[in-house]
Amino acid sequence: MKDRREAKDIDGGVKASPADAQPADFIRNIISEDIRAKRYDSRVHTRFPPEPNGYLHIGHAKSICLNFGIAEDFGGLCNLRFDDTNPTKEEVEYVDSIKENVHWLGFDWSDRLYYASDYFEQLYESALQLIKKGRAYVCDLSPREIREYRGTLTEPGRESPYRDRTVEENLSLFERMRAGEFPDGSRTLRAKIDMKSGNLNMRDPVIYRILHAAHHRTGDKWCIYPMYDFAHGLSDSIEGITHSICTVEFEDHRPLYDWFLDELEVYHPRQIEFARLNLAYTVLSKRKLIELVEGKYVTGWDDPRMPTISGLRRRGYTPESIRNFCDRIGVAKRDSTVDMALLEYCIREDLNKRAPRVMAVLQPLRVVIENYPEGKSEEMDAINNPEEPSMGTRKVPFSRVLYIEKDDFREDPPKQFYRLAPGREVRLRYAYFIKCTGVVKDEQSGEVVEIRCTYDPETRGGDAPDGRKIKATLHWVSAGHSLEAEVRLYDHLFLKADPDEAGEGRDFKSYVNPQSLVTLKSCRIEPGMMHAAAGNRYQFERQGYFCVDPDSSKGRLVFNRTVTLRDTWAKIEKTLKQAKKS
Ligand code: ATP
Ligand code: MG
Repeated sequence: MKDRREAKDIDGGVKASPADAQPADFIRNIISEDIRAKRYDSRVHTRFPPEPNGYLHIGHAKSICLNFGIAEDFGGLCNLRFDDTNPTKEEVEYVDSIKENVHWLGFDWSDRLYYASDYFEQLYESALQLIKKGRAYVCDLSPREIREYRGTLTEPGRESPYRDRTVEENLSLFERMRAGEFPDGSRTLRAKIDMKSGNLNMRDPVIYRILHAAHHRTGDKWCIYPMYDFAHGLSDSIEGITHSICTVEFEDHRPLYDWFLDELEVYHPRQIEFARLNLAYTVLSKRKLIELVEGKYVTGWDDPRMPTISGLRRRGYTPESIRNFCDRIGVAKRDSTVDMALLEYCIREDLNKRAPRVMAVLQPLRVVIENYPEGKSEEMDAINNPEEPSMGTRKVPFSRVLYIEKDDFREDPPKQFYRLAPGREVRLRYAYFIKCTGVVKDEQSGEVVEIRCTYDPETRGGDAPDGRKIKATLHWVSAGHSLEAEVRLYDHLFLKADPDEAGEGRDFKSYVNPQSLVTLKSCRIEPGMMHAAAGNRYQFERQGYFCVDPDSSKGRLVFNRTVTLRDTWAKIEKTLKQAKKS
């Protein structure tokens, strides 16, 4: 979190972080100004208010980093509050996963865990107060009629025929709503504001609806539930929040937020909106993510292809990399779509420093070293992380029969292919130079199934005493010593950068990438990985970063590829800079 100042200057809808002491985005500027003007007693108290109707995604991480980060920066507090006003879509599983994810990201709400449902009684009292002030009424229009009466952006709304009920009648009806006398949808409580307002949210919005549904915390106690706009501002007020930070789609709701608090004459926090995070080649909407889970397009909320925190975590992302990503994208008012390559850049940068290197062969091709004695083996010294000498070295067994990557051999090498080919010499990392003397082919298919080689005993450790040049260095494992592993390679979950963009009436799910998961079942890996535990992260030399999947069992390792080694972000950054200059 402390590195915000070190964020590189990047551009293209992505906001750069400032270089001065107090990291300044427009929200932090507003807060600094409020502190200077001694508003809210110079306190800073934010909240992260998820609705427990799904797992958190990377967009939520932006909001978490912002709310908890601001509290940290200004020596304030941040609450975790579940906005649980919709009993039909909420589940305890989601509550638990959200708490877990926030902690995993590295933030803590201490003893400030709240639920909007804890305030149901207070919210009800506030509704009674509005009725008594003549500012709310019970309306018998059906949901469809309410919509019809609301009008449009260009046409004013029409007043409900129930708008002028007396306070007494409203009080009595509202109490009977609570008592369960009326069926779902038959009546609502509405704020009495202005049916001609240019802002649709101000056209007598519904504040309570009848819903005979059990709530995950209050059970059957209630059969009327407050609407989000009413519950949210009041919850902020009850908790003494100073800055209520939300995404821009709530900008049009701010007048309503303010109206409720003003009419009720209660403590009044300040709502500030910022741009949602959009990420290319994925969707960030819980409703859509639920569809992917329920339609079995993915294996679950924590499928490594999902943009959920649980998915990214299983994929191998670290909390630091996600926080760093959120710092780099910054906070702006204007919506933008961030390139997935930036997220990948952040994890690569983090893992480069901390992930031990190992050798794994994803698509094995057998190599026999004809002049290496049968039955003999040696331990080669390998460096665990060239970026981090303190991570030390390890021993890797070498023997007569090895595996190398299928791709590292060509019988007819094209130009620019410097790896192994008949007659060609290459270096085996940390081991010897080998020279290809021949191939063995499958008689039926003609496919090369084995490569015959000789090795030069003078090149132990990978150096030639005569200084002869070698163009390629390959990774390898000893056939007899290595372990079998399953490796899951991931690609973008969608084929389209914006799967939400409705094209030809197609549903976003029709753009799911059928190649988003490729499973390789007979990979070979160094024997030292025998005890690798789920969640451990490694760099497979020349292949990318990988993480041990919880599906691993004793004796059978399963890896997820977190990210390849290819950094496309640096390239994008360069292009953007050039584009900006010209
Ligand atoms: P979704 O559209 O995915 O269902 P939501 O806004 O309904 O998201 P909430 O649980 O209400 O989800 O969100 C909790 C907080 O996270 C809110 O303050 C919301 O503004 C913020 N948030 C949600 N999605 C994003 C996003 N893509 N970028 C930034 N903040 C987000
Ligand atoms: Mg929401």
